[in-house]
Amino acid sequence: MRLTRLQETAQPVLRFAPSPNGALHLGHALSALTGFEMARRLGGRFLVRIEDIDRARVRPEYITGIFEDLAWLGITFEQPVLFQSHHLPAYKQAAACLDAMGLLYPCFASRKEIIAAADPAKLDPEGALVYPGIWRGRPQADVERELAKGEPFAMRLDMERAVALARKKFGGPITFSEIDGAGRSRIVVCDPQRWGDVVVLRKETPSSYLISVVVDDARQGITHVTRGMDLFAATDAQRVLQIILDLPAPLYHHHRLIVDDAGLKLSKSTGAQSLASLRVAGVTAAQVLRRISTTAVPLPSG
Ligand code: GLU
Repeated sequence: MRLTRLQETAQPVLRFAPSPNGALHLGHALSALTGFEMARRLGGRFLVRIEDIDRARVRPEYITGIFEDLAWLGITFEQPVLFQSHHLPAYKQAAACLDAMGLLYPCFASRKEIIAAADPAKLDPEGALVYPGIWRGRPQADVERELAKGEPFAMRLDMERAVALARKKFGGPITFSEIDGAGRSRIVVCDPQRWGDVVVLRKETPSSYLISVVVDDARQGITHVTRGMDLFAATDAQRVLQIILDLPAPLYHHHRLIVDDAGLKLSKSTGAQSLASLRVAGVTAAQVLRRISTTAVPLPSG
């Protein structure tokens, strides 16, 4: 079994990669702090990457807010900061490689059509309906008809084919290395098929979280990906693309999530209290750090 042990040879490089589509909350503070502290302990570099590809939801004030929040928490990072919106051609190019291998197909289906055709019992790890494969293997004439009408389309990954190729290249079941808070590593066996044929290029943006995170973790030489457990399952699909595109495998550390009083994960969409509003209410950065450290796992000692 082969893992690219980049982390054993290079200076550690860690990152905090927020999406500026809402104000940061305590969960983000924990993510940023976990990466920052781990970088410090490992003698590594710490980067910030702004994942601003979602044109409909990104707002400039959220970007300003990220930098204000990090400064307030005393989290410093290298310059320049990478903005994904400046690198869309790189994501398109990576997708073109996948396309050239016959792993992508255009999907013209609307959300409504997908919901109507999907099996309500088949949910992905985030609880969303698994895409029912409506456009997989459709005749070229159908594709051309939609293109002639100027219909927008997404590019989806043929997950079965992609996994078959990745397994062949990897030499067995796809895995990644997960380190825990004490720095112990374990091998996690991936199950990417449960995501179905994921979107690689969205209808409205020539990118997606999946392709841009994989391209940028490699471009920035990230050796340790630190982020919340909510992205643990997403790693499976990311590993498929890393293997197919010959990109190195970082180590992963998924930290536990901060939950609200009802035991639910904090989320921008459900209006979790923002770091900015805590600041305005007179909460100090030290109090925030204490609050998240009592809910976080200890950090690896390096
Ligand atoms: N941009 C993603 C988010 O804010 C995190 C990406 C990652 O850490 O891989 O949820």
